[in-house]
Amino acid sequence: MAAAGKKVIRLEGGEPIPPTPPFVIDAIKGALDRGETRYAPSSGIPKLLEAICAKLQQKNGIAAEPGGVIVVNGGAHGLFCSFQATLDEGDEAIFLSPYWTPIRDLVRYAGGEPVMVPWDEAEKTSPAAAIERRLTPRSRLIYVNSPSNPTGRVLDRAALEAIAQLAIQRDLLVIADEAYEDLTWDGDHVSIASLPGMAERTITVFTLSKSYALTGGRIGYVVASPTFMEVLRKLVLNSTNGVSTPTQFGALAALTEGAGWIEEKRAEYLQRRDFLVAAARAAGFECSIPAGAFYLFANVRERLGSDSWGAMKQLLDATGIATVPGAVFGAEGEGHLRMSYSTSMKVLEEADAALRRL
Ligand code: PLP
Repeated sequence: MAAAGKKVIRLEGGEPIPPTPPFVIDAIKGALDRGETRYAPSSGIPKLLEAICAKLQQKNGIAAEPGGVIVVNGGAHGLFCSFQATLDEGDEAIFLSPYWTPIRDLVRYAGGEPVMVPWDEAEKTSPAAAIERRLTPRSRLIYVNSPSNPTGRVLDRAALEAIAQLAIQRDLLVIADEAYEDLTWDGDHVSIASLPGMAERTITVFTLSKSYALTGGRIGYVVASPTFMEVLRKLVLNSTNGVSTPTQFGALAALTEGAGWIEEKRAEYLQRRDFLVAAARAAGFECSIPAGAFYLFANVRERLGSDSWGAMKQLLDATGIATVPGAVFGAEGEGHLRMSYSTSMKVLEEADAALRRL
């Protein structure tokens, strides 16, 4: 539509609001100027591994040595390797649904069987209780994504403690996807690997994409116990053989100089979140206030029907607002649309005005 010259109000994306911080860009440029354009160790440059360990200790409460972390090509690559490292043919991987779209395919590609637990059911009882009901002798791991894409829901300490308890009791692994750790609006972000007894059974995947607006840098890191590190190292070596060297220097600057940078953006995110929630509610969409990430997951059944693809098209045709159909995030997403509030106030004001005409 945009190519045909029509106005599109884009709320479908997953990009952070601010531009990549200048100290990250400068570090990448500096590395290029110094000729840091050769192979780096495939697991990551030593200084970056040290900085990651310091950050994990201070911010996440996860104790790690440089040998226990690995630099990967973004969260997507970290997750790909984590599922490959843990699942055998027929193993079941359990996760709350709606879920981030690639997860089901990442599980299947590793030979696993995805087992989805509706978020709504998890909220009525508790995530651990809802997960426990789905356990079978083939259950191998629980994938935990908090803050969650697409729902913006956050699992608090008590919910994570109960999941940890279950994982320990039933000898399950956990793959924790903490892509939005810095975009937690209500309460503190808790890393499940920091809970007692969890470090050895958790693989945690982090990314610089959302925290430092470095989506195009394709860099993240994974922390795991030595058992999994050995296979993760082989997977990284034989898939990408490491992350671009200059980008690793950018990540080093982000982790060593970036404290507080994302905090400064907090007010901008919250202003936009509250604005879009109000606009969506005024349009007759049902939505709770997201506790994290930068998406609104609105129930649009009343206004646009329960087929989310149809709803997405209707809204696009009637208002020019682009969203993502909820069904893309699993069957439990039907009747919903995902809208990102990570955009300018101008775009959100246009969306508000367009919704009023719906
Ligand atoms: N995990 C979740 C829940 C995400 O939403 C994303 C990106 O949107 C990622 C992981 C991976 O991000 P990247 O591969 O850019 O690091």
